[in-house]
Amino acid sequence: MTKKYDTIVIGAGMSGLAAAIRLAMFGKKVCILEKHFLTGGLNSYYKRGKRKFDVGLHAMTNFVPKGTKRKPLTKLLKQLRIPWDALELSEQKSSLIQFPSEKLMFTNDFEVFRTEIAQKFPHEIDNFNKFVQYIEEFNEVALDNKTYMAKDVAKKFIKDSQLIEMIFCPLLIYGSAWENDMDFSQFVIMFKSIYLEGFCRPNGGVRTILNLLMDKYEAVGGELIFKAEVVKVIHSGDKVKGVELKDGTILECDKVISSMGHPETMAVTQESPTITNEKSPAVGPLSFCESIACLDKKPTDFGFDHTIVFYNESDTYNYRKPETLFDHTSAVACFPNNFQHDDDFVEGEGIARITYMANYKLWKELERKVYLEHKNDLFEKSIETIKRIAPGFDANILFKDVFTPTTIERYTGHFEGTVYGSTDKLRDGRTSIEGLYLCGTDQGFLGIVGAMLSGISMANLHGLME
Ligand SMILES: Cc1cc2nc3c(=O)[nH]c(=O)nc-3n(C[C@H](O)[C@H](O)[C@H](O)COP(=O)(O)OP(=O)(O)OC[C@H]3O[C@@H](n4cnc5c(N)ncnc54)[C@H](O)[C@@H]3O)c2cc1C
Repeated sequence: MTKKYDTIVIGAGMSGLAAAIRLAMFGKKVCILEKHFLTGGLNSYYKRGKRKFDVGLHAMTNFVPKGTKRKPLTKLLKQLRIPWDALELSEQKSSLIQFPSEKLMFTNDFEVFRTEIAQKFPHEIDNFNKFVQYIEEFNEVALDNKTYMAKDVAKKFIKDSQLIEMIFCPLLIYGSAWENDMDFSQFVIMFKSIYLEGFCRPNGGVRTILNLLMDKYEAVGGELIFKAEVVKVIHSGDKVKGVELKDGTILECDKVISSMGHPETMAVTQESPTITNEKSPAVGPLSFCESIACLDKKPTDFGFDHTIVFYNESDTYNYRKPETLFDHTSAVACFPNNFQHDDDFVEGEGIARITYMANYKLWKELERKVYLEHKNDLFEKSIETIKRIAPGFDANILFKDVFTPTTIERYTGHFEGTVYGSTDKLRDGRTSIEGLYLCGTDQGFLGIVGAMLSGISMANLHGLME
Protein backbone atom coordinates (compact mmCIF):
# COMPACT_ATOMS: atom_id res chain seq x y z
CA MET A 1 0.00 0.00 0.00
CA THR A 2 1.36 3.46 -0.85
CA LYS A 3 1.99 5.74 2.12
CA LYS A 4 0.03 8.97 2.29
CA TYR A 5 1.14 12.22 3.92
CA ASP A 6 -0.44 15.62 4.44
CA THR A 7 2.74 17.23 3.16
CA ILE A 8 5.95 15.96 1.61
CA VAL A 9 8.93 18.30 1.96
CA ILE A 10 11.67 17.87 -0.63
CA GLY A 11 15.13 18.49 0.82
CA ALA A 12 16.64 18.41 4.31
CA GLY A 13 18.49 21.72 4.01
CA MET A 14 17.76 24.65 6.32
CA SER A 15 14.46 25.60 4.68
CA GLY A 16 13.09 22.06 4.31
CA LEU A 17 13.88 21.16 7.93
CA ALA A 18 12.32 24.36 9.26
CA ALA A 19 9.18 23.90 7.14
CA ALA A 20 8.75 20.29 8.22
CA ILE A 21 9.22 21.11 11.92
CA ARG A 22 6.42 23.70 11.76
CA LEU A 23 4.07 21.27 10.04
CA ALA A 24 4.78 18.34 12.36
CA MET A 25 4.56 20.62 15.39
CA PHE A 26 0.92 21.27 14.50
CA GLY A 27 0.03 17.62 13.99
CA LYS A 28 0.47 17.33 10.23
CA LYS A 29 1.68 14.01 8.86
CA VAL A 30 4.87 15.11 7.16
CA CYS A 31 7.85 13.44 5.54
CA ILE A 32 11.11 14.98 4.33
CA LEU A 33 12.71 13.31 1.32
CA GLU A 34 16.43 13.99 1.00
CA LYS A 35 18.47 12.63 -1.89
CA HIS A 36 21.76 12.82 0.01
CA PHE A 37 22.66 10.81 3.15
CA LEU A 38 23.15 13.96 5.23
CA THR A 39 21.18 17.04 6.25
CA GLY A 40 22.26 20.58 5.43
CA GLY A 41 22.15 20.87 1.63
CA LEU A 42 24.21 23.91 0.64
CA ASN A 43 25.20 24.21 4.28
CA SER A 44 26.41 20.78 5.21
CA TYR A 45 29.56 19.39 6.85
CA TYR A 46 32.22 16.70 6.62
CA LYS A 47 35.16 15.31 8.56
CA ARG A 48 38.74 14.46 7.52
CA GLY A 49 40.64 12.68 10.30
CA LYS A 50 40.44 14.81 13.42
CA ARG A 51 39.29 17.91 11.51
CA LYS A 52 35.64 18.86 11.13
CA PHE A 53 34.61 21.17 8.31
CA ASP A 54 31.55 23.19 7.44
CA VAL A 55 30.74 23.18 3.73
CA GLY A 56 29.01 26.53 3.48
CA LEU A 57 29.09 28.36 6.77
CA HIS A 58 31.34 31.38 6.92
CA ALA A 59 29.06 33.21 9.28
CA MET A 60 25.50 33.22 10.36
CA THR A 61 23.92 36.59 9.57
CA ASN A 62 21.22 38.43 11.57
CA PHE A 63 23.01 38.40 14.93
CA VAL A 64 21.05 40.19 17.64
CA PRO A 65 21.55 39.94 21.41
CA LYS A 66 19.38 37.54 23.37
CA GLY A 67 15.92 38.92 24.07
CA THR A 68 15.85 41.36 21.11
CA LYS A 69 12.26 41.51 19.95
CA ARG A 70 10.84 41.21 16.41
CA LYS A 71 14.09 40.45 14.59
CA PRO A 72 14.50 37.56 12.13
CA LEU A 73 16.75 35.43 14.36
CA THR A 74 14.59 35.71 17.46
CA LYS A 75 11.38 35.26 15.43
CA LEU A 76 12.63 32.07 13.85
CA LEU A 77 13.84 30.60 17.14
CA LYS A 78 10.44 31.35 18.67
CA GLN A 79 8.61 29.71 15.76
CA LEU A 80 10.80 26.61 16.02
CA ARG A 81 10.76 26.69 19.84
CA ILE A 82 14.54 26.55 20.06
CA PRO A 83 16.15 28.50 22.93
CA TRP A 84 18.59 31.27 21.91
CA ASP A 85 21.28 29.86 24.23
CA ALA A 86 21.20 26.48 22.46
CA LEU A 87 23.02 28.02 19.48
CA GLU A 88 25.97 29.15 21.65
CA LEU A 89 26.59 32.08 19.32
CA SER A 90 29.97 33.71 19.08
CA GLU A 91 30.08 37.18 17.51
CA GLN A 92 32.50 38.33 14.82
CA LYS A 93 35.39 40.56 15.89
CA SER A 94 35.30 42.76 12.79
CA SER A 95 34.97 42.52 9.02
CA LEU A 96 36.53 44.56 6.26
CA ILE A 97 35.56 45.69 2.77
CA GLN A 98 38.93 46.07 1.07
CA PHE A 99 39.16 47.95 -2.25
CA PRO A 100 42.43 49.30 -3.75
CA SER A 101 41.89 52.89 -2.69
CA GLU A 102 39.75 52.48 0.43
CA LYS A 103 38.82 50.13 3.26
CA LEU A 104 35.64 50.09 5.33
CA MET A 105 35.43 48.15 8.58
CA PHE A 106 32.18 46.96 10.15
CA THR A 107 31.27 45.03 13.28
CA ASN A 108 28.02 44.01 14.94
CA ASP A 109 27.74 47.59 16.17
CA PHE A 110 26.32 49.53 13.20
CA GLU A 111 27.77 52.81 14.51
CA VAL A 112 31.25 51.52 13.64
CA PHE A 113 30.24 51.29 9.96
CA ARG A 114 28.49 54.67 10.07
CA THR A 115 31.63 56.26 11.57
CA GLU A 116 33.87 54.63 8.94
CA ILE A 117 31.68 56.08 6.18
CA ALA A 118 31.62 59.50 7.88
CA GLN A 119 35.43 59.50 8.02
CA LYS A 120 36.20 58.10 4.58
CA PHE A 121 33.26 59.49 2.59
CA PRO A 122 32.38 62.66 4.59
CA HIS A 123 30.61 64.20 1.56
CA GLU A 124 28.16 61.25 1.56
CA ILE A 125 27.37 60.70 5.23
CA ASP A 126 24.07 62.63 5.20
CA ASN A 127 22.95 60.79 2.08
CA PHE A 128 24.00 57.47 3.61
CA ASN A 129 22.00 58.20 6.76
CA LYS A 130 18.90 59.01 4.68
CA PHE A 131 19.37 55.78 2.73
CA VAL A 132 19.66 53.80 5.98
CA GLN A 133 16.46 55.35 7.26
CA TYR A 134 14.69 54.41 4.00
CA ILE A 135 16.01 50.84 4.33
CA GLU A 136 14.93 50.60 7.98
CA GLU A 137 11.38 51.61 7.09
CA PHE A 138 11.07 49.28 4.08
CA ASN A 139 9.11 46.03 4.50
CA GLU A 140 11.44 43.65 2.70
CA VAL A 141 9.56 40.46 3.59
CA ALA A 142 6.14 41.37 2.14
CA LEU A 143 5.28 38.44 -0.10
CA ASP A 144 3.77 40.74 -2.74
CA ASN A 145 6.86 42.97 -3.18
CA LYS A 146 7.70 43.58 -6.84
CA THR A 147 11.18 42.84 -8.20
CA TYR A 148 13.26 45.92 -9.09
CA MET A 149 16.98 46.55 -8.96
CA ALA A 150 18.68 47.92 -5.86
CA LYS A 151 21.44 50.02 -7.47
CA ASP A 152 18.81 52.27 -9.09
CA VAL A 153 17.40 52.94 -5.61
CA ALA A 154 20.84 53.41 -4.00
CA LYS A 155 21.83 55.96 -6.68
CA LYS A 156 18.86 58.13 -5.70
CA PHE A 157 20.52 58.58 -2.31
CA ILE A 158 24.27 58.15 -2.82
CA LYS A 159 26.22 59.81 -5.64
CA ASP A 160 29.73 58.44 -5.01
CA SER A 161 29.95 55.29 -7.13
CA GLN A 162 32.91 53.96 -5.11
CA LEU A 163 30.83 54.01 -1.93
CA ILE A 164 27.93 52.27 -3.68
CA GLU A 165 30.30 49.56 -4.95
CA MET A 166 31.74 49.05 -1.47
CA ILE A 167 28.35 48.89 0.28
CA PHE A 168 27.03 46.41 -2.30
CA CYS A 169 30.08 44.12 -2.32
CA PRO A 170 29.34 41.97 0.80
CA LEU A 171 25.61 41.98 0.08
CA LEU A 172 26.02 40.74 -3.49
CA ILE A 173 28.51 37.96 -2.74
CA TYR A 174 26.47 36.78 0.26
CA GLY A 175 23.13 36.69 -1.45
CA SER A 176 22.48 37.91 -4.97
CA ALA A 177 21.16 35.66 -7.72
CA TRP A 178 21.60 38.60 -10.14
CA GLU A 179 24.92 39.65 -11.68
CA ASN A 180 26.23 43.07 -10.52
CA ASP A 181 22.96 44.04 -8.84
CA MET A 182 20.17 42.56 -6.78
CA ASP A 183 16.46 42.76 -6.22
CA PHE A 184 15.77 45.67 -3.83
CA SER A 185 13.86 43.53 -1.28
CA GLN A 186 16.78 41.11 -1.22
CA PHE A 187 19.19 44.06 -0.84
CA VAL A 188 17.26 45.28 2.20
CA ILE A 189 17.21 41.78 3.70
CA MET A 190 20.97 41.54 3.25
CA PHE A 191 21.68 45.12 4.42
CA LYS A 192 19.74 44.56 7.64
CA SER A 193 21.09 41.07 8.24
CA ILE A 194 24.77 41.98 7.67
CA TYR A 195 25.21 45.67 8.55
CA LEU A 196 22.34 46.48 10.94
CA GLU A 197 22.40 43.09 12.71
CA GLY A 198 25.65 41.21 12.12
CA PHE A 199 27.77 38.09 11.87
CA CYS A 200 28.07 35.27 14.38
CA ARG A 201 28.97 31.61 14.46
CA PRO A 202 27.39 28.83 16.52
CA ASN A 203 29.91 26.95 18.63
CA GLY A 204 30.42 23.69 16.72
CA GLY A 205 29.55 25.32 13.39
CA VAL A 206 26.70 24.27 11.17
CA ARG A 207 26.38 20.88 12.93
CA THR A 208 25.02 22.69 15.98
CA ILE A 209 22.17 24.21 13.97
CA LEU A 210 21.42 20.99 12.10
CA ASN A 211 21.48 18.88 15.28
CA LEU A 212 19.04 21.27 16.96
CA LEU A 213 16.72 21.12 13.95
CA MET A 214 16.91 17.31 13.75
CA ASP A 215 16.29 16.91 17.50
CA LYS A 216 13.28 19.19 17.27
CA TYR A 217 11.94 17.40 14.18
CA GLU A 218 12.22 14.01 15.87
CA ALA A 219 10.57 15.36 19.02
CA VAL A 220 7.54 16.56 17.04
CA GLY A 221 7.23 13.20 15.30
CA GLY A 222 8.27 13.99 11.71
CA GLU A 223 9.62 11.39 9.26
CA LEU A 224 12.77 11.80 7.18
CA ILE A 225 14.04 9.46 4.49
CA PHE A 226 17.64 9.82 3.30
CA LYS A 227 18.82 8.66 -0.12
CA ALA A 228 15.33 9.39 -1.38
CA GLU A 229 15.69 11.34 -4.61
CA VAL A 230 12.43 12.72 -5.98
CA VAL A 231 12.36 12.22 -9.75
CA LYS A 232 8.76 13.19 -10.33
CA VAL A 233 6.09 15.30 -8.68
CA ILE A 234 2.91 13.47 -9.67
CA HIS A 235 -0.02 15.71 -10.51
CA SER A 236 -3.26 15.41 -12.41
CA GLY A 237 -5.53 18.23 -13.46
CA ASP A 238 -2.73 20.50 -12.23
CA LYS A 239 -3.18 19.30 -8.65
CA VAL A 240 -0.48 17.51 -6.70
CA LYS A 241 -1.08 13.81 -5.95
CA GLY A 242 2.32 12.64 -4.70
CA VAL A 243 5.91 12.01 -5.68
CA GLU A 244 7.95 9.27 -7.30
CA LEU A 245 11.40 8.40 -6.01
CA LYS A 246 14.39 7.25 -8.07
CA ASP A 247 13.90 3.65 -6.89
CA GLY A 248 10.31 3.69 -8.17
CA THR A 249 8.59 4.18 -4.79
CA ILE A 250 5.42 6.26 -4.99
CA LEU A 251 4.35 8.35 -2.00
CA GLU A 252 1.00 10.12 -1.93
CA CYS A 253 0.34 13.51 -0.40
CA ASP A 254 -1.95 16.54 -0.53
CA LYS A 255 0.87 19.06 -0.69
CA VAL A 256 4.53 19.22 -1.65
CA ILE A 257 6.88 21.91 -0.39
CA SER A 258 10.10 21.80 -2.39
CA SER A 259 13.46 23.33 -1.48
CA MET A 260 15.18 21.91 -4.58
CA GLY A 261 15.10 25.26 -6.41
CA HIS A 262 12.65 26.72 -8.94
CA PRO A 263 13.97 25.26 -12.23
CA GLU A 264 14.91 22.00 -10.49
CA THR A 265 11.39 21.61 -9.07
CA MET A 266 9.63 22.45 -12.33
CA ALA A 267 11.88 19.96 -14.15
CA VAL A 268 10.52 17.09 -12.02
CA THR A 269 6.95 18.06 -12.80
CA GLN A 270 7.59 17.20 -16.44
CA GLU A 271 7.59 13.77 -18.04
CA SER A 272 11.36 13.78 -18.33
CA PRO A 273 13.17 15.42 -15.39
CA THR A 274 16.10 16.48 -17.58
CA ILE A 275 14.02 18.46 -20.05
CA THR A 276 13.56 22.15 -19.45
CA ASN A 277 12.06 24.45 -22.04
CA GLU A 278 12.15 28.16 -22.85
CA LYS A 279 9.33 28.78 -20.37
CA SER A 280 11.36 27.16 -17.58
CA PRO A 281 12.63 29.46 -14.84
CA ALA A 282 16.17 30.73 -15.38
CA VAL A 283 19.08 28.83 -13.87
CA GLY A 284 21.02 31.33 -11.76
CA PRO A 285 24.44 32.29 -13.14
CA LEU A 286 26.34 32.54 -9.86
CA SER A 287 28.47 29.76 -8.49
CA PHE A 288 31.63 29.62 -6.46
CA CYS A 289 34.87 27.80 -5.75
CA GLU A 290 36.20 27.68 -2.25
CA SER A 291 39.57 26.73 -0.83
CA ILE A 292 40.02 25.67 2.77
CA ALA A 293 43.47 25.78 4.35
CA CYS A 294 44.25 24.38 7.79
CA LEU A 295 47.22 26.29 9.17
CA ASP A 296 49.82 25.50 11.82
CA LYS A 297 48.97 28.74 13.62
CA LYS A 298 45.97 30.95 14.21
CA PRO A 299 45.44 34.14 12.20
CA THR A 300 46.09 36.27 15.31
CA ASP A 301 49.54 34.60 15.52
CA PHE A 302 50.43 36.29 12.20
CA GLY A 303 48.85 39.55 13.30
CA PHE A 304 45.47 39.26 11.62
CA ASP A 305 42.24 39.60 13.54
CA HIS A 306 39.44 40.43 11.09
CA THR A 307 36.78 37.72 10.78
CA ILE A 308 35.72 38.21 7.15
CA VAL A 309 37.34 40.27 4.40
CA PHE A 310 35.50 41.24 1.22
CA TYR A 311 38.48 41.75 -1.05
CA ASN A 312 38.41 43.43 -4.46
CA GLU A 313 41.29 44.49 -6.70
CA SER A 314 39.53 47.21 -8.70
CA ASP A 315 37.35 50.23 -7.93
CA THR A 316 34.33 48.52 -9.42
CA TYR A 317 33.14 45.22 -8.03
CA ASN A 318 32.61 42.69 -10.82
CA TYR A 319 30.02 40.38 -9.34
CA ARG A 320 29.32 38.08 -12.26
CA LYS A 321 30.05 34.67 -13.71
CA PRO A 322 33.69 34.92 -14.83
CA GLU A 323 34.85 33.98 -18.32
CA THR A 324 37.64 31.93 -16.78
CA LEU A 325 37.40 28.98 -14.37
CA PHE A 326 37.45 31.36 -11.42
CA ASP A 327 38.08 35.04 -10.77
CA HIS A 328 40.81 35.66 -8.22
CA THR A 329 40.64 39.46 -8.56
CA SER A 330 37.98 39.48 -5.86
CA ALA A 331 37.31 37.11 -2.98
CA VAL A 332 35.67 36.55 0.36
CA ALA A 333 38.24 35.50 2.94
CA CYS A 334 36.87 34.00 6.12
CA PHE A 335 38.98 33.35 9.22
CA PRO A 336 36.64 31.39 11.53
CA ASN A 337 39.13 31.56 14.43
CA ASN A 338 38.44 35.28 14.53
CA PHE A 339 34.99 34.97 16.00
CA GLN A 340 35.02 35.75 19.73
CA HIS A 341 35.42 32.06 20.59
CA ASP A 342 37.18 29.36 18.57
CA ASP A 343 37.51 26.55 21.08
CA ASP A 344 35.75 23.98 18.87
CA PHE A 345 38.64 23.90 16.34
CA VAL A 346 41.73 21.69 16.55
CA GLU A 347 43.90 23.23 19.25
CA GLY A 348 46.67 25.52 18.01
CA GLU A 349 45.53 25.36 14.39
CA GLY A 350 43.98 28.06 12.25
CA ILE A 351 41.66 27.95 9.26
CA ALA A 352 41.37 30.23 6.23
CA ARG A 353 38.60 29.91 3.66
CA ILE A 354 38.78 31.77 0.37
CA THR A 355 35.76 31.98 -1.94
CA TYR A 356 36.01 33.03 -5.59
CA MET A 357 33.28 33.45 -8.20
CA ALA A 358 33.46 30.56 -10.67
CA ASN A 359 32.23 29.42 -14.06
CA TYR A 360 30.34 26.12 -13.81
CA LYS A 361 30.46 25.19 -17.50
CA LEU A 362 34.25 25.57 -17.73
CA TRP A 363 34.80 23.35 -14.66
CA LYS A 364 32.25 20.83 -15.92
CA GLU A 365 34.01 20.19 -19.21
CA LEU A 366 37.43 19.44 -17.67
CA GLU A 367 38.80 15.90 -17.68
CA ARG A 368 39.53 14.50 -14.22
CA LYS A 369 43.33 14.99 -14.33
CA VAL A 370 43.09 18.56 -15.61
CA TYR A 371 40.29 19.28 -13.12
CA LEU A 372 42.58 18.26 -10.24
CA GLU A 373 45.44 20.38 -11.64
CA HIS A 374 43.16 23.43 -11.74
CA LYS A 375 42.01 22.76 -8.19
CA ASN A 376 45.67 22.84 -7.15
CA ASP A 377 46.20 26.06 -9.09
CA LEU A 378 43.17 27.58 -7.36
CA PHE A 379 44.58 26.63 -3.99
CA GLU A 380 47.91 28.33 -4.80
CA LYS A 381 46.07 31.48 -5.92
CA SER A 382 44.05 31.47 -2.70
CA ILE A 383 47.27 31.52 -0.65
CA GLU A 384 48.43 34.53 -2.69
CA THR A 385 45.10 36.20 -1.91
CA ILE A 386 45.59 35.55 1.81
CA LYS A 387 49.06 37.13 1.61
CA ARG A 388 47.59 40.27 0.01
CA ILE A 389 44.92 40.48 2.70
CA ALA A 390 47.17 39.54 5.62
CA PRO A 391 50.72 40.67 4.72
CA GLY A 392 52.14 39.03 7.88
CA PHE A 393 50.94 35.57 6.80
CA ASP A 394 53.70 33.04 7.51
CA ALA A 395 51.81 29.85 8.38
CA ASN A 396 52.44 26.36 7.04
CA ILE A 397 49.60 24.43 5.42
CA LEU A 398 48.62 21.26 7.31
CA PHE A 399 45.61 20.29 5.20
CA LYS A 400 43.93 21.69 2.11
CA ASP A 401 40.69 21.17 0.27
CA VAL A 402 38.96 22.85 -2.66
CA PHE A 403 35.41 22.61 -3.91
CA THR A 404 34.07 23.82 -7.23
CA PRO A 405 30.63 24.41 -8.83
CA THR A 406 30.53 20.77 -9.93
CA THR A 407 30.97 19.68 -6.28
CA ILE A 408 28.04 21.91 -5.32
CA GLU A 409 25.90 20.46 -8.10
CA ARG A 410 26.80 16.88 -7.16
CA TYR A 411 25.93 17.27 -3.48
CA THR A 412 22.89 19.54 -3.68
CA GLY A 413 21.31 18.89 -7.07
CA HIS A 414 21.25 22.62 -7.87
CA PHE A 415 21.52 23.00 -11.65
CA GLU A 416 24.95 24.34 -12.66
CA GLY A 417 26.02 24.49 -9.02
CA THR A 418 24.05 27.69 -8.54
CA VAL A 419 24.17 28.91 -4.97
CA TYR A 420 21.71 31.81 -4.82
CA GLY A 421 19.21 30.14 -7.10
CA SER A 422 17.19 31.38 -10.00
CA THR A 423 16.49 35.04 -10.81
CA ASP A 424 12.85 33.91 -11.18
CA LYS A 425 11.88 33.88 -7.51
CA LEU A 426 8.36 32.91 -6.38
CA ARG A 427 7.92 35.10 -3.36
CA ASP A 428 4.59 33.61 -2.28
CA GLY A 429 5.92 30.11 -2.98
CA ARG A 430 3.04 29.23 -5.33
CA THR A 431 3.83 27.32 -8.51
CA SER A 432 1.48 26.73 -11.45
CA ILE A 433 0.53 23.37 -9.87
CA GLU A 434 -2.00 23.46 -7.04
CA GLY A 435 -0.50 22.04 -3.86
CA LEU A 436 3.13 22.41 -5.06
CA TYR A 437 5.02 25.18 -3.29
CA LEU A 438 8.62 26.35 -3.13
CA CYS A 439 10.56 27.17 -0.01
CA GLY A 440 14.15 28.28 0.49
CA THR A 441 16.42 30.12 -1.89
CA ASP A 442 14.01 30.38 -4.81
CA GLN A 443 11.12 31.54 -2.67
CA GLY A 444 13.40 34.48 -2.04
CA PHE A 445 14.92 34.23 1.43
CA LEU A 446 18.39 32.74 1.54
CA GLY A 447 21.39 32.19 3.76
CA ILE A 448 21.03 30.10 6.90
CA VAL A 449 18.60 32.38 8.72
CA GLY A 450 16.76 33.40 5.54
CA ALA A 451 16.27 29.81 4.38
CA MET A 452 14.87 28.76 7.77
CA LEU A 453 12.52 31.77 7.78
CA SER A 454 11.41 30.86 4.28
CA GLY A 455 10.60 27.29 5.36
CA ILE A 456 8.65 28.57 8.36
CA SER A 457 6.67 31.14 6.39
CA MET A 458 5.82 28.74 3.55
CA ALA A 459 4.72 26.05 6.04
CA ASN A 460 2.61 28.58 7.94
CA LEU A 461 1.04 29.99 4.78
CA HIS A 462 0.45 26.88 2.71
CA GLY A 463 0.53 24.00 5.18
CA LEU A 464 -1.17 25.44 8.26
CA MET A 465 -3.30 28.40 7.22
CA GLU A 466 -4.74 27.10 3.92
C1 LIG B 1 30.02 27.89 -0.37
C2 LIG B 1 28.82 28.45 0.33
C3 LIG B 1 28.99 29.31 1.40
C4 LIG B 1 27.87 29.81 2.06
N1 LIG B 1 28.08 30.59 3.14
C5 LIG B 1 27.03 31.01 3.86
C6 LIG B 1 27.22 31.71 5.07
O1 LIG B 1 28.35 31.94 5.50
N2 LIG B 1 26.15 32.14 5.75
C7 LIG B 1 24.88 31.91 5.32
O2 LIG B 1 23.92 32.32 6.00
N3 LIG B 1 24.65 31.23 4.18
C8 LIG B 1 25.70 30.77 3.45
N4 LIG B 1 25.49 30.07 2.29
C9 LIG B 1 24.13 30.01 1.74
C10 LIG B 1 23.28 29.00 2.44
O3 LIG B 1 23.99 27.81 2.56
C11 LIG B 1 22.01 28.73 1.63
O4 LIG B 1 21.39 29.94 1.24
C12 LIG B 1 20.99 27.89 2.38
O5 LIG B 1 21.63 26.82 3.03
C13 LIG B 1 19.95 27.40 1.40
O6 LIG B 1 19.10 26.49 2.02
P1 LIG B 1 17.89 25.84 1.23
O7 LIG B 1 17.15 25.03 2.20
O8 LIG B 1 17.16 26.90 0.48
O9 LIG B 1 18.52 24.94 0.07
P2 LIG B 1 19.52 23.74 0.07
O10 LIG B 1 20.48 23.85 1.17
O11 LIG B 1 20.07 23.69 -1.30
O12 LIG B 1 18.62 22.45 0.34
C14 LIG B 1 18.02 21.74 -0.68
C15 LIG B 1 18.06 20.26 -0.33
O13 LIG B 1 17.28 19.55 -1.28
C16 LIG B 1 17.93 18.32 -1.58
N5 LIG B 1 17.47 17.90 -2.89
C17 LIG B 1 17.74 18.48 -4.09
N6 LIG B 1 17.14 17.79 -5.07
C18 LIG B 1 16.47 16.77 -4.49
C19 LIG B 1 15.64 15.72 -4.99
N7 LIG B 1 15.39 15.59 -6.28
N8 LIG B 1 15.12 14.84 -4.11
C20 LIG B 1 15.37 14.95 -2.77
N9 LIG B 1 16.15 15.92 -2.25
C21 LIG B 1 16.69 16.83 -3.10
C22 LIG B 1 19.42 18.70 -1.56
O14 LIG B 1 20.24 17.56 -1.41
C23 LIG B 1 19.46 19.66 -0.37
O15 LIG B 1 19.70 18.97 0.83
C24 LIG B 1 26.57 29.50 1.62
C25 LIG B 1 26.42 28.62 0.56
C26 LIG B 1 27.52 28.07 -0.07
C27 LIG B 1 27.33 27.07 -1.16
